[in-house]
Amino acid sequence: MATRKVVVIGSGPAGYTAAIYAARANLAPMMLTGVQSGGQLMLTTLVENYPGFVDGLMGPELMESFRKQAERFGTEMIPEDATRVDLLNRPFRVWGETAEYEAHTVIIATGASAKLLGLDAEMQLMGRGVSTCATCDGFFFKDQKIMVVGGGDSALEEALYLSRLGSSVDLVHRRDTLRASKIMQDRAFKNPKIQFMWDSAVEEILDPAQGKVTGVKLRNVKTGVLVERPVDGLFVAIGHQPNTQLFRGQVELLPNGYIKVKPGTTQTSIPGVFAAGDVQDHVYRQAVTAAGTGCMAALEAERYLEATQPH
Ligand code: NAP
Repeated sequence: MATRKVVVIGSGPAGYTAAIYAARANLAPMMLTGVQSGGQLMLTTLVENYPGFVDGLMGPELMESFRKQAERFGTEMIPEDATRVDLLNRPFRVWGETAEYEAHTVIIATGASAKLLGLDAEMQLMGRGVSTCATCDGFFFKDQKIMVVGGGDSALEEALYLSRLGSSVDLVHRRDTLRASKIMQDRAFKNPKIQFMWDSAVEEILDPAQGKVTGVKLRNVKTGVLVERPVDGLFVAIGHQPNTQLFRGQVELLPNGYIKVKPGTTQTSIPGVFAAGDVQDHVYRQAVTAAGTGCMAALEAERYLEATQPH
């Protein structure tokens, strides 16, 4: 089996950008795209904040362009999930569903997934009124009624951001105390546009039949009483889950499960293994920052290969 110079795992903005840079550096990268390729942008509709596209474009369309650009320079795409890795021995080994691959460097770009409530309508209306990213989609709800679910810093940050755009923001939390930091709580409590709906769980999102969000049924978890609130946008902000299960016990992770990288780089605890995008970023989580770290990972992989592999 030929040992690859670079294997990229994951196909969001970080993975594709790493592949574009690695391919153009003649490193003939191979990429395990995952069965569902494209990452979180495949779940969004219009993307208006990716620089270079004046009028915005659809998330899946943007990812299709990323993929074609990576292919154009010779990235070999394997449309499979990585099922197992061995990063503790060299060369590194990565297993797909049908084959095993060897690599001198591995770029991990498996992303993070927004946690969801688990309601059917949530997926049906994702990108059609339901969103997991206020920075991405808040603008579509200018002067409209917005609801945010969650009680942590993310939920309050989203609610505060959305209060500048929407006519009102309902903050729905399943308990009567917030998990968020005191400073964020103070800011949210002071904001006249934010109303708190305590002890409340989303029971139903209306209305999949109309193909858009028209309202939300909330259940008071203490009294069982149901209320219906008319809203135009529902932002689910109950946390993210980094996709790092595969790397546990091999690459060093932070206590929150994200991959630990040396500050200012994409270097993991294992020389030759790099991490780019949301899998190592719980702060910015933007397509453009993911693409930026994808570029960094490819450049760092190139330098690592130059220093360790005979020409
Ligand atoms: P988090 O702290 O884990 O909070 C998640 C919130 O969602 C909790 O209030 C939780 O309720 C609620 N929740 C979880 N699952 C739920 C479900 N199935 N249904 C309804 N509610 C549910 O996540 P996060 O807010 O994304 O923050 C993650 C980390 O990033 C934290 O350390 C946070 O401080 C940090 N962060 C900081 C900032 C900032 O400082 N500006 C901004 C964003 C994130 P319970 O409280 O009942 O568990």
